[in-house]
Amino acid sequence: MPNQQNKIFLSPPHMGEWELPFLQEAFESNWIAPLGEHVDSFEQEMAAYLGVRGALALSSGTAAIHLALRLLGVGQGDVVFCSSLTFVASVNPILYQGASVVLIDSEPDTWNMSPVALERALHEATLMERLPKAVIVVHLYGQSARMEEIKMLCDRYQVPIVEDAAESLGANRHGKASGTIGEFGALSFNGNKMITTSGGGMLVSDDVEALKKARYWATQARDLARHYQHSEIGYNYRLSNLLAAVGRGQLRVLDDRIRARRSVFERYEQALSGEPGIRFMPEAEGGFSSRWLTALTIDEERSGFSVLRLLEELDNERIEARPVWKPMHLQPLFAGCVYYPHQPEESVSDRLFANGVCLPSGSSLTEEEQQRVISCIQRLLQRRGEG
Ligand SMILES: *Cc1c(COP(=O)(O)O)cnc(C)c1O
Repeated sequence: MPNQQNKIFLSPPHMGEWELPFLQEAFESNWIAPLGEHVDSFEQEMAAYLGVRGALALSSGTAAIHLALRLLGVGQGDVVFCSSLTFVASVNPILYQGASVVLIDSEPDTWNMSPVALERALHEATLMERLPKAVIVVHLYGQSARMEEIKMLCDRYQVPIVEDAAESLGANRHGKASGTIGEFGALSFNGNKMITTSGGGMLVSDDVEALKKARYWATQARDLARHYQHSEIGYNYRLSNLLAAVGRGQLRVLDDRIRARRSVFERYEQALSGEPGIRFMPEAEGGFSSRWLTALTIDEERSGFSVLRLLEELDNERIEARPVWKPMHLQPLFAGCVYYPHQPEESVSDRLFANGVCLPSGSSLTEEEQQRVISCIQRLLQRRGEG
C-alpha cells in the first residue's frame, strides 16, 4: 500500500532562513497591514534583481496583468493578442477590460509564442485595420519566449508587449531578465511558483510614471484629498506588508532555487532522455531557463504508454504530476476567438497538450524522492519491452 505520508508534490513552497525573521520584524513593529516598509523594500529589491526601474507589489499576478492592460488603454472594442498555450490567468484580464481575444500558437523550440504565427496575425490585423492594443507574451515553465523576434515584430507594428513572467522569474534571454523586455512584466508569487508569498504578484517596468498610476488604481484610486474622494475606478490589489516580508526572504534564496530546479531537470534528463518516445522541453539557444517545471512529451507509439497512463501510475504512487496546459483556443470560454496556429496546417500547442506532462520539480525535492518518480516511469517503459 502506498504510504499516505510520503506524497511528492508538483512544486511545493520552499522557505529559506529569512522569511520568519522578516515576519517577526513586521509583527514587532505591528506593521501587519496593509502597506509598510517590507512592501517598499520588496519592490526595490525585486527591481534591482531584475535590472528594471520600478516594481509594484500586488495581491496576484493576475492583478498585475490586469493593471498592465489598463495602463495600455485596453478597453471595449479593442483587440489583445495572447499566447494560447497558458494558464487562464494570462487571458482573463483581457475579458475584464471588455476587449476581444486573439490567440497565438506556440513554436517547437521554446513552447512559447510562435513569431511566425504572430507575424501572420499582425499582417492580417493590418489589412483589417484592427491592430491589437497589446500582445501578451507568456513564458512557460521557466523559459522565456523568443523575445528578440517578437519584439522586432511588435516594434514594427508599434504594438506594446506585456510579458506574463509568472512562471519565468529568474530566466533570461541574452542576459536580459524575463519580464523586463516588453513595456510591462507580470510576476506571480502564488504557492507553486519559483518563489512564493502564499499569494501575490508584481508589476515591473522601466516606466515609473505608469507604475505610479497603477499604484493609484491598485489602492482604490483614492485621490489626493483629506476626505475619501474618487474620480476613477479602482481596485483593492495591493500586497500586505506581512506577505512582502515573506517575499523578501524568498528573494534572497531565488538563485539557490533556480540552481536546485535546474539540477532536478538535469537528473530527469540523465535518467530518461535516452528512452524511446520521451523528449524534454528544449532550452532554446540564447536563453537561460529557470526550469520552473520539468516538462516533457511522450510519443505513445514509441514509449508504449500514454500521458494519461503515466498520470494514473504516478497518482497511484502518491506522486503529483500534471498535463501541460490545455490551450485557450480549446477552452469553452474562448470558443469564439480567432486562433493563429504556428503553420496553417500545424498547431504546436495542440500537440504539446496531447503529449505533454509536467513532473514534480520543487526545489526541495530530494534525490530519493526524484528516484521514485524516475523508477515509476522506468517500470512503464519496461512493460513495453515485455510486450
Ligand atoms: C500562475 C500564473 C498566473 C497568475 O498568477 P496569480 O498570482 O496566481 O494570479 C498567470 N499566468 C501564468 C502563466 C501563471 O502560471
